This record gives sequence, C-alpha cells and structure tokens, in this order.
Amino acid sequence: MSSFNGPGLYIHVPFCRRICPYCDFSVLTGDRSWQSRYVRHLLLEIDLSTGSGWPDLIHEPPRQPFDTIYFGGGTPSMLRPEDLGTILAALRDQLPVRDDAWLFLEANPEDVTLEAATTWRQMGFRTISLGVQSFAEQHLSFLGRQHTPRTARQSLDNAISAGFDTVAMDLIYGLPGQTPTDWRRDLDAALAAQPHHLSCYQLTVHPRTPFGFRRQRGELAEMENDEQAELFLMTHRLLEEGGLPGYEVSSFAAGPEHHSLHNQKYWTHTPYLGLGPSAHSFAQRRRWWNPRKIKAWMAPLAEGRSPIESGEELGLQSLVLESLMLGLRTYAGVDFDTLPGGTGQRLWEENEATIDRLVERGLATAERSCLRPTLRGLAIADTVARSLDLDCLREESP
Ligand code: SF4
Repeated sequence: MSSFNGPGLYIHVPFCRRICPYCDFSVLTGDRSWQSRYVRHLLLEIDLSTGSGWPDLIHEPPRQPFDTIYFGGGTPSMLRPEDLGTILAALRDQLPVRDDAWLFLEANPEDVTLEAATTWRQMGFRTISLGVQSFAEQHLSFLGRQHTPRTARQSLDNAISAGFDTVAMDLIYGLPGQTPTDWRRDLDAALAAQPHHLSCYQLTVHPRTPFGFRRQRGELAEMENDEQAELFLMTHRLLEEGGLPGYEVSSFAAGPEHHSLHNQKYWTHTPYLGLGPSAHSFAQRRRWWNPRKIKAWMAPLAEGRSPIESGEELGLQSLVLESLMLGLRTYAGVDFDTLPGGTGQRLWEENEATIDRLVERGLATAERSCLRPTLRGLAIADTVARSLDLDCLREESP
C-alpha cells in the first residue's frame, strides 16, 4: 500500500437525483443531456490540462504518475458505465496514470444493483463508497435521502458480492434529537453489514442550505457540543471493539489495506489534480480551483480555455499549520521531522512547554519528533494544532 505515494486525480461528478437539505457541494439534478454535456466538457478539460503547465508542477521530479483516481460528487454512480469508461480512457490516454492506479467510485445505494456493481468492478474500480448515511427510516427521511434501510443493506451485499477490494460506507451522526442509543443502533447495523471501511461524519449545518435557512428561522436546533463529543468518543470506542478501528477523525477500517489511499494524499499534502466543477488541486505550495457552477466551468472550456477560477500560494506558516491540523486529525499524528521546509526541529523546541501541557492534559503523546493525539485530542484536533505557536516561521513566509 505504501507504494501509492504518487499524485492523485479527483474527478467531480456534479449530479444528484435530489439535492439533500444539508448539502454544501457543487451539485445539480441534471438529466441525461446535462450528463452528456458534462462528459464532453470534462474531456476538453482533460485535454487542456496536459498543456496548462500544471502537470509540471504536480509531476516535479521524480515525476511519479497518478496512482489513484477518485470519482466523487455528487453521485458518480448516476453516470452511465459508458461515460465512466470514456472518462477513464481519456485520463489514461492523456495523463500519466499508473497501470495499477487505484480507482474509487462514490455511489448512492439506489444505484448499486448486483449488475451495476459487477460492471464497475470489471471496469477496474477497486473501492466503492456507499452514501448510506443512516439505517433508521426517520433519519433517512430527515436527511432527505430516497433510499430505505433495506436498500442500503442490499447495496452493501451487492458491492461485497461484486468483489470490490474495499467496500466503504458513509454514515452521518449528530442529528437533532438523535440519542446515543439511536446512534449505537446505526453503528451496530453498520458493523453487521461488514464493510471494510466506514466514514462517520458529524452533521454540519451550512448557511445557504435548506437546513441553514431552517436554523435561521429557529426551526432546527443543532446538537450541543458536549452531546456531539459524547457520540464522537462512543463511535471510536465501539468501532474499535467491533473490528473497525479508527485511523483518522472520521475514518475507520478493517485493516491498513483498506485505508483510503486517495484521502491520505489530502492529509499529507501529496499533490493532486482535480477536474470538474468546484474541483480543487494542490502541488508544492500552490492550491487552485475550478468554479462551483457547472455553467461557469463549461463556458471557458467551450472556448478552449482553462476553467481554473483562482489559486493561492501558501506561505510557509500556513502550510505548516495545515500540516499540523491534518496530521493531528489522524491516529498517526505528526512527525515534526517531515514538516514542510525542514521547520520541525525549531518548531518543536519553541513549543516544548505547550507540548508538555498537551501531554499532561491527556490530549496527546509525544515521542521523539512525533506528536500523536489521544482520542480526546482527536476530538479537538484543530484546537490542539492551533495551540502551537508558529511565530518563529513568520519571517520565512513569502
Ligand atoms: S447525495 Fe451527497 S452530493 Fe448529492 S445532494 Fe446529497 S449530500 Fe449532496
């Protein structure tokens, strides 16, 4: 698994049958003709990306090829297999992609018939990630999901029967009024379905979404922080006991071979190229992104121009802060010796007193150059990262 340390490719597929009331992604309910237009423009973007100069940035020496391709969204499983095949062929033809690149597909349970799952598996997808969200009828309905608990279970069975290397599923918790018993039932149902990987996300209410508007009108009360924290700790403990130990704040897997090779690139600042509306890319110290709206993404492509909307160059201080935040969200923690710009030793020395306090308060353990969060530290990873003083790096930021 560790040999998958080259850059990653992310393809954003922006279609969903219905927009969930909590969704903050770039999505639309497009019909077949929209999907065809999307595929045509994505092929243009793939074509253009080879001449844009970005590949040089991503493939700086030793110029490793892409070794993961992640179809996310949106609902990539809504695309016809022919469309997925066309996109994959274009990526392999025009970009440096390793022959054994690990292919990921996000899918909605309604789409995962045994026939569809078998087709995707035959196309080379190795991980399928199912947006189950809950096994409770009332919670699925609150979240605006169309599938039933029964469909969710059936889709998992189909994915397992189709022989994916990793069958993953997502759940959401921290819903208004959800009790620890409710959530425990969901976790038990998830464990009974025996996925290889589970992601458990706390519900976030974003402004400018139907849930955000309901909160503004006082019709939706979010779960209190201490209740959320209780569910968080319970999740990590129960899943560990159930054979799916955590390795990141929201990620649990039956073994290291099922850890998300693609997400690990985001957590370690490994370069990645994102294509499609709203897709973000990162290489060296540079981050850039496409417009969120599909029309704003398509318009420049139709004129033969790059759709990149904007970008930023991260200063050393921001880059190190991000590395600390991302690292402290993982069980492995942060090895200061690997921090960008060779800054780790100085940073550790400057923060020795803070690190000692984190250890005394039971939020982290420190060993040589490694700072690892405890479960309690993981629950407040960003706060732990921000407690470190990065002022000594300020003068080196551009
Ligand atoms: S299925 Fe996912 S991407 Fe689609 S609307 Fe719902 S939350 Fe958003």
